[in-house]
Amino acid sequence: MLRLVLGSRNKKKLGEMVELLADLPVEVTDLTPYPNAPPVEETAGSFVGNATLKATQLAPALGQWVIGEDSGLCVPALGGDPGVDSALYAGTHGDDAANNAKLLREMAHLTGDERAAYYISTAVLSDPTGKVVAQVEGRCHGVIVDALRGAGGFGYDPLFLVPEFGKTFGELPPEVKRAMSHRAMAFQQLRPVIERILAVGG
Ligand code: IMP
Repeated sequence: MLRLVLGSRNKKKLGEMVELLADLPVEVTDLTPYPNAPPVEETAGSFVGNATLKATQLAPALGQWVIGEDSGLCVPALGGDPGVDSALYAGTHGDDAANNAKLLREMAHLTGDERAAYYISTAVLSDPTGKVVAQVEGRCHGVIVDALRGAGGFGYDPLFLVPEFGKTFGELPPEVKRAMSHRAMAFQQLRPVIERILAVGG
């Protein structure tokens, strides 16, 4: 069976990616079976650049197909911040509470359309030699509310209101996020590529 390695160490993000690939006849794994996987510096300065670094550095090191994913939240009224450095917006990598507090502070003076935001997810699939075979992007549009709402999801989800539902990703059940998130939109585009690889025998 084709093995696909998810080149991420973010457990919440990994859980979502595993769910998004769950019905494909592939063996999906994170980096746990590869304790010697090299650390990848996210230095490209763009989502697609960082996703490409993750996929193309890990795939030849592991000798496996690898999906690298880089994602974040962009607020146009803040010039695109938190942007490519969403995970360390407030200074400490992955400190969701501090990141959310900073976002609320930075947006305190913004109203109406200025509170529009979108999530972006870029995924890059590399073959075991390090050759990129797919590069996809998904976006999900919403509004940043003025206080935390709900405990679901991760990262900025308790602040990210989905207009269609009038609720944040923190409040909505995981299956709703799985159906419409930026990551869902990106991975939907990876599916036909993975199916073609399976058809020719990996
Ligand atoms: P990465 O692991 O470098 O791609 O950073 C992803 C960061 O973007 C996370 O730590 C969150 O701050 C933010 N982010 C990306 N996707 C989501 C999401 O689905 N919900 C909430 N925050 C997200």
